Amino acid sequence: MGKKQFKAESKRLLDLMINSIYTNKEIFLREIISNASDAIDKLCYLSLTDDKVGLSRDDFRIDLIVDKAARTLTVRDNGIGMTLAEAESNLGVIAKSGSFQFKGEMEQDKTEDLSIIGQFGVGFYSAFMVADEVTVLSRRYGEEQGVQWQSKGADGYTVIPIEKETVGTDVIMHLKPDTEDEVYGSYLEVWKLKALIRKYSDYVRWPIKMDVEHQERFETGEKNDDGSPKYDYRMVTENETINSMVPIWQRSKSEVTDDDCIAWYKEKNRDRKDPCALVRVNAEGTVSYKAMLFVPGEQNENVFSGDNKGGITLYSNGVMIMEKCDKLLHEYFDFVKGVVDSPDLSLNISREILQHDRQLRIIGQNLEKRIKGELEKLMKEDREKYEEFFRNFGTDLKCGVCDEYGRYQEFLRDLLLFYTDKDRQVSLREYAEAMPESQQAVYYASADTLRHAMELPQCEQVRARGFELIYLTSPLDEMVVENLREVNGKRFCNVVTDELGFDTEEEKKAAEEREIENRELLDFVKESIGDEVAKVRLSRKLASRPCCLTSEGPLTLEMERYFRSGPSEEMRKLRATRVLELNPEHPAFEAVRAAFEGDREKGKKLAKILWVLAEMNAGVEVEDTGEFTELVSELF
Ligand code: ADP
Repeated sequence: MGKKQFKAESKRLLDLMINSIYTNKEIFLREIISNASDAIDKLCYLSLTDDKVGLSRDDFRIDLIVDKAARTLTVRDNGIGMTLAEAESNLGVIAKSGSFQFKGEMEQDKTEDLSIIGQFGVGFYSAFMVADEVTVLSRRYGEEQGVQWQSKGADGYTVIPIEKETVGTDVIMHLKPDTEDEVYGSYLEVWKLKALIRKYSDYVRWPIKMDVEHQERFETGEKNDDGSPKYDYRMVTENETINSMVPIWQRSKSEVTDDDCIAWYKEKNRDRKDPCALVRVNAEGTVSYKAMLFVPGEQNENVFSGDNKGGITLYSNGVMIMEKCDKLLHEYFDFVKGVVDSPDLSLNISREILQHDRQLRIIGQNLEKRIKGELEKLMKEDREKYEEFFRNFGTDLKCGVCDEYGRYQEFLRDLLLFYTDKDRQVSLREYAEAMPESQQAVYYASADTLRHAMELPQCEQVRARGFELIYLTSPLDEMVVENLREVNGKRFCNVVTDELGFDTEEEKKAAEEREIENRELLDFVKESIGDEVAKVRLSRKLASRPCCLTSEGPLTLEMERYFRSGPSEEMRKLRATRVLELNPEHPAFEAVRAAFEGDREKGKKLAKILWVLAEMNAGVEVEDTGEFTELVSELF
């Protein structure tokens, strides 16, 4: 029988396979085993209604047979098998499912990093990544005759009828010669095959069996001098089942306790600490899936190398289809680790199509709700643990609030914690609950550290009224607050830059008049300080302190500080528009006035001192400390 040509579309894929563009060649075994498992599924299903199948559930198996002399690796199954026509139509063209997608995507995106191809399920063809000849012997259930399909790759294939004793399929791969980069012969080694099965196919439902040699101790029959029996060692071959078949997350809650799951998690992730939350889901409905997710008890050490993304492994019926899937959950839940297993997910999935996969979106949404629920429970029931969680992963949640123009803020806001002057951390819900009727805004003070935030002179009036004051300690915190905008209809108020809103109309008017009365003095102070300050005015926020520094416009002092360590010179040069506020009730103000009227030189110096004090209180680094020291020394 002459050689037949592959269909055009198959040829291209085959070329890719043969030329080993795939970086992840080892997945061929997963693909071939998963085909075998599917074939067994089909026959097993038939056997439920057809007595003639003559096999019970326990009889089904997949065998790996190594022949080093012939340099072949065979994957054998006793599944449904193929007729000659099926072999031709199934193996002669690219299978309908994933492979087309693969091809389409390849064409669109020729320059894309080719390593992503390693994520595709390309099925049977992947055998050609490691083999220079593939022979398939198969006999379909219910057929007398078998079929032999054979191909050396792109130049076509032959298909002939053969005698085959048993129903099922053998895929015989003749491995390519070893090269400098690739030792194809390693696929004949038991350790390698075992490792691959554990990695990719551990949870295939059918036993994957292989002959494994090991040493055995035996009694020789002779005796030692002391009369004890003599032992020796010999090599024995045992047919072992390599895969564990039923994964822990597929077992019911009555079979496997939460502690079992936690032990599994710690071993798998080499985590020393117990996770702080566990989510187990067994969902049946439009999309069926099982999931076992963990919120780690400590930060992953890879968090700083950026390799912390997507701690979720996807399985489809126990076959691993993707490690570190970062498209299932939003980025703000990147710290979550675990597994999701759904028969509804296709094996042929790539990171690119994953995003648009409806099934996956539904699963992701449901899981996010469950994770949130679990975290809320933790917040209520074990506050200390939740605070630890928030220390570890709060930044992810905060970034989530700011991401995509605040799209996720409703979902995430109640998971956030904020420090307050009542020496506690609160969620916004708790803050609102504790808020007196009369309070018009949610007050916050922002600095680089808690200590600096507490020291801000502008906090005094808020504290004096007994309103709880939130302390923010990072520019990200400020962004979060800006994104959230309000709590139960009450705006966020930055005590440094915003109106506190405590004054009555009359008080405001009186303040304006006082400002006008003091205009000359205030201008004098501004001139004394120089260009650094944009404005000098009287403050309505201060109590015991003589002055404070604030800013005008969108860039706050906090943000300026943040940009100072920015990557570009331009960024580092950004400055907030500085405003000095003076406390008209403070003796310092009277002293400046007296000097302004009697001794201008002294007045100038006092103005400068107040300026530096304001800077220091705002946590701004004082540049000319020498001048300041001199100015203060002169006072004595
Ligand atoms: P896919 O599995 O995505 O359909 P493959 O290229 O892996 O694509 O396989 C093509 C088809 O060949 C399968 O759908 C199946 O019908 C058939 N096939 C492959 N391997 C076997 C096998 N071991 N037993 C029976 N049929 C098989």
